[in-house]
Amino acid sequence: MGRGIRWMGYAFLVGVGAAGLLGVQRAYARLDSKGVKTYALRDDILIHGNVNLKEIALTFDDGPRPEIAREMLNILGRHRVRSTFFVVGSMVEQHPKLVRRMMNEGHEVANHSFSHPRLHGMDEEAIRVELARCDRAIFDATGARTNLFRPPGMRYDDTVLRAAQSLGYVTVHWNVAAQDFRSQPASEIARKVLEAVKPGSVVLLHGHPDTLAALPTILERLQEKGYRFVTVSQMLGRLERPVYVKTNAYGAIPEATPEKKPVTRVARTTRKATTRSTDAKEPAIAAPPAAVDIPSWN
Ligand SMILES: [Zn+2]
Repeated sequence: MGRGIRWMGYAFLVGVGAAGLLGVQRAYARLDSKGVKTYALRDDILIHGNVNLKEIALTFDDGPRPEIAREMLNILGRHRVRSTFFVVGSMVEQHPKLVRRMMNEGHEVANHSFSHPRLHGMDEEAIRVELARCDRAIFDATGARTNLFRPPGMRYDDTVLRAAQSLGYVTVHWNVAAQDFRSQPASEIARKVLEAVKPGSVVLLHGHPDTLAALPTILERLQEKGYRFVTVSQMLGRLERPVYVKTNAYGAIPEATPEKKPVTRVARTTRKATTRSTDAKEPAIAAPPAAVDIPSWN
């Protein structure tokens, strides 16, 4: 009798334990396979991409400054690398052609506010105006919009995140940076990035002359290691629980070298000749859904 009660007690404890474990699993559904936080519905921030994929999102903040951005685009084009530019709306108004060129060359253009203020502590309406004015500037320059936002200086509070989310934005953080907003040897910038990069990294860089000098080394070393470069929207779509947002990156990446010319292949299923790039391992950007699709993570 007493033994039976004891067993019932054990069964009860096992049941509670199992429920507890299930609870833990539910909580960790917001984390990636290595238990690292990436994108959470509650705070709506991307910190890095899928750690199981050898891909990187390069992001450049604060531009466009013509004297830097033109050469930066040349270098990225030579290496056939897509990136994401978090632009400042007031700068976009001054250099609309440059922003168009970014998109035409396959890069993503995203919102970094209109006048680059520190947004934390500002009231929600003022924050929405900063975002909306930058959105307008991008739209006027390119005819396209973005769903990606990075607060200046990465300063944010709940009000900033709420304002961004209410306008349909995903807020994009980073997990690799080189403090390249200040002068330092190009080799230092390259070292900091190369030492910190891991699969799924979001790399923060700026339009600084030293960064420009470091960029070829960064791209070459990472390509040698087998990394692919994706836009932030592509990265979001390749999370273990994909988050699809509209992308404004649509241009073809310029051809870099003659040996990378497209080759013609016959697709067996359709028997039609299709032209594909030799870099076709990179998945094409899927047609964006009509609206931001933020799935429930529970
Ligand atoms: Zn900035």
